[in-house]
Amino acid sequence: MDVRAHVSMVFHLDKCIGCHTCSVACKNVWTDSPGAEYMWWNNVETKPGTGYPTRWEDQMNYKGGWELNKNRELVLRSQSKGGALAKLFYNPRQPGLDDYYEPWTYRYQDLFDAPSGDDQPTAVPISQITGEPMDIEAGPNWDDDLSGSPIYAENDPNLDRLTEDERQMLFDVESIAMMYLPRICNHCANPSCVASCPSGALYKRGEDGIVLVNQEKCRGWRACVVACPYKKMYYNWQTGKSEKCILCYPRVETGQPPACFHSCVGRIRYMGVLLYDAERMVDAMKAPEASLVEAQRNVLLDPHDREVAAAAEANGISPKFIAAAQQSPVYKYVKEWQLALPLHPEFRTLPMLYYVPPLLPVMGRAGDGIYEHEAEEFFTHLDKSRLPMKFLASLFSAGNLDVVKAVMKKQMAVRYYKRAQDVDDVDAAKVQRVLREAHLTPEQAEAIYALTALAPMTERYVMPPIQREEALDGFDMPSCSPEMCKGKCGLGMTQAPQRGA
Ligand code: SF4
Ligand code: SF4
Repeated sequence: MDVRAHVSMVFHLDKCIGCHTCSVACKNVWTDSPGAEYMWWNNVETKPGTGYPTRWEDQMNYKGGWELNKNRELVLRSQSKGGALAKLFYNPRQPGLDDYYEPWTYRYQDLFDAPSGDDQPTAVPISQITGEPMDIEAGPNWDDDLSGSPIYAENDPNLDRLTEDERQMLFDVESIAMMYLPRICNHCANPSCVASCPSGALYKRGEDGIVLVNQEKCRGWRACVVACPYKKMYYNWQTGKSEKCILCYPRVETGQPPACFHSCVGRIRYMGVLLYDAERMVDAMKAPEASLVEAQRNVLLDPHDREVAAAAEANGISPKFIAAAQQSPVYKYVKEWQLALPLHPEFRTLPMLYYVPPLLPVMGRAGDGIYEHEAEEFFTHLDKSRLPMKFLASLFSAGNLDVVKAVMKKQMAVRYYKRAQDVDDVDAAKVQRVLREAHLTPEQAEAIYALTALAPMTERYVMPPIQREEALDGFDMPSCSPEMCKGKCGLGMTQAPQRGA
């Protein structure tokens, strides 16, 4: 057992109201400088939708993430070891500005200088790239709330798994369903961005797994932009360097949640420490698609297990991190209750941001639009839900329907259990049956309810305020060991933690 610690996150999608406060909080702190105008390290997408940049999930086009070659070796989709050199100066898989959008501001002075007349003066939109007047034709959340559905939502790559009938049902105006998907860098445990960098500028902090770009070393080759399947690497056209979400590490190190967590209106964001076994990583990366979620769960270790805690300490993990792992809300959602799932596990980067899929759009039944409150009825009609299970499975379980159905049943069982307590119109024996079918105990249902609906920030954000130097004290471990992959990845994921970087 080779125990490592990783900062990790859960976003509970049933609680997201799509207000974009998180995106604005992040933009104001990190990406309001010249060259970064088009960047949204945090963005919120409406699903179904094409997202930002357009159709980022389509790896046939963008070639991001990892794949297994015919010898079952894990290789980057974007470049082979030798091929990386050929793509240094031109990579056709790179998203262009049209795939994001052309950032703009307004010429506000027009409001003051306009001559008096019958019309209201307007501020002309000005391109932040050229400084010239422009027509606005796209934005980072252009298809917000299903606006322009026939043009945008219908092109969501996740709909490819649906039959024609299912697609039509989804877009039936009477029963159209949607959900919000807030996205930041997943600070993946097997980050393809790090592996792709020819300059070794990207690195993963050994003590907590946060993925960062060393701006001194970055040469702006942009291999990382292509290799990240989530398109969470950005190129700053002013500085000529790549940038990405830094998980607000200066805040985290001083005991404060990242700006997007702190500002989240729906309180959907949870952060905590996970302990994992690095020796099981290769199995998780190479698992067959249908069992990727299970394999990723298997990597995670029980922080309450004394053997695990002792091995963690022996590996140099700070006692404060181990204590935080024992209180981790993320461990509860991901491993204990198995409610939170990785986004697109088939990209094989082992994302450390997990999502609790939304129950509400699933409760509505396709066709009649009725919201199902009877749990047993809900279980029976899961295949006819307004937001199709296949769609959610495409997002969160590499197509494995059983995984998302199990999550939906658990969420519905908790709702039913609480309804029995609060509304008192549910038969107690039925509640027991429903909990049994969802594989939950009443204690677990109570705990899930408490962490989902009642938990204050101190329970949603459980990270010890540890300065880097303190965390690295007595810690001398590479962030990815060649022994682990036997050098098979061959792509340079061997950056040791960089003190003071
Ligand atoms: Fe790297 Fe973040 Fe993309 Fe993962 S999501 S590959 S850590 S940029
Ligand atoms: Fe959703 Fe929270 Fe962002 Fe609002 S601030 S869009 S609730 S994640």
